[in-house]
Amino acid sequence: MSGEFRGRMTEGGGRIILANRARGFSVASMREDTRRWIEADKRHGWHPFTPQEAWTDDGHEPLVLVRGEGAWLGDSEGRKYFDGNSSIWTNIHGHNHPALNAALRKQAEEVAHTSYLGFANPRASELAEKLVSLVPSRTLERVFFSDNGSTAVEVAMKMSLQYWMQSGEPTRDRFVAFANGYHGDTMGAASLGGVSRFFERFRKFGVEVDFVESLDELAKLDAGKIAAVMVEPLIQGVNEMRPWPEGMLRNLRTACDDAGMHLILDEVMTGFGRTGTMFACEQESVVPDFLCLAKGLTGGYMPMAATMTTAKVYEAFLGAAENAFYYGHSYTANPLGCALALASLELFESERTLERLKPKIAAMGELLVALKEKQPMVHEVRQCGFVAGIELRQLDGSPFSPSEKMGEKVCVAAREHGLLTRPIRDTIVMMPPLCAEVGDLEKAFEALRRALASGVSLLGK
Ligand SMILES: *Cc1c(COP(=O)(O)O)cnc(C)c1O
Repeated sequence: MSGEFRGRMTEGGGRIILANRARGFSVASMREDTRRWIEADKRHGWHPFTPQEAWTDDGHEPLVLVRGEGAWLGDSEGRKYFDGNSSIWTNIHGHNHPALNAALRKQAEEVAHTSYLGFANPRASELAEKLVSLVPSRTLERVFFSDNGSTAVEVAMKMSLQYWMQSGEPTRDRFVAFANGYHGDTMGAASLGGVSRFFERFRKFGVEVDFVESLDELAKLDAGKIAAVMVEPLIQGVNEMRPWPEGMLRNLRTACDDAGMHLILDEVMTGFGRTGTMFACEQESVVPDFLCLAKGLTGGYMPMAATMTTAKVYEAFLGAAENAFYYGHSYTANPLGCALALASLELFESERTLERLKPKIAAMGELLVALKEKQPMVHEVRQCGFVAGIELRQLDGSPFSPSEKMGEKVCVAAREHGLLTRPIRDTIVMMPPLCAEVGDLEKAFEALRRALASGVSLLGK
């Protein structure tokens, strides 16, 4: 599967490769660039969630990604890879999509950024209206824009707290979140994170949170002190892709209603078709008080987020000027981001993305089952729509020691066979762009199968 891009990529998008060929440059000149980029990265860059000492080690040669086409990415050496985790869960319709490129170009030629503080802009107006049209009518009628998943969560948290302050229940000032959940990395959002290896050292700086494992535990809390319950609907992503039992979300909505607590749904990962429906909450006919959207909002092109809420919440912020929501970012409702989000949502219609996804979800299910049957290291496969986790364990069924880094080793080996993805501990994530075809999935799973086979041989050593 390695090798240079073919088809549209080499004709249209493969500028570096073509230019180098046309001018008769040797591959060595690109090697030179690659070397320069890696050197500057190692000297001055600082990567997220990354032990930098290992990253900057002379023996580590990071891939430099320079190109994309559909569900595929290309590196600076001309090698091609399937984007198995949708470029960290963001990409929806594929890279280098003509319609998204055109929307970006068109907006850039009008204006790239204007302030939403004090001014309206056409694309933000259109996008707010469009997002509201995607949820049941007269439910979530207001859209507050921000920049990323973490800020979408921060906005919901602050809105909920301030809502209770202005609605005569200021003692509702605590949050409930679920064990092993993930809601982002800014201080407030991270406080709701239950993945202790990420958040424990900052716990004392954050907001007051009760962590629960189940609805039974939630029922035991003093509901009168709780502003909102935060959950990732249908599946916890960072928690090694663990789906909730069916009905959990519906029951949680009922529990929140009974106790008068807000329900905040973090659909930063699950939103925009990832679980098979536009939003995951549709599958249990649940409407939250706050819906947090980000990653896939712009199709994976630009950082942009939205927090949607009800007229009831909105109305608590009316009246005296000090009741307003004093929150915002410089790039709130950035026109480029809004234009891309609108174009992405249009593609859902013109390309019938969700309808075409159904058979691909089924095909992924079959590939997962086949992988588990044939690969002894695969302990469990978990799937929710077009999102899957493949958990690896030792052949006797016990987990690998973390120091073995088996998930990472398998993902590095998979690159050799043309698949890019990341593990969460020893769970391999398979979350392709929704545009991936069944043939692409088959290639990705074949790459993973080969990587696992080489992993088994590592075990022998
Ligand atoms: C990625 C993610 C976030 C954080 O989004 P960022 O854009 O990385 O800040 C929050 N919640 C969930 C469920 C996520 O997957």
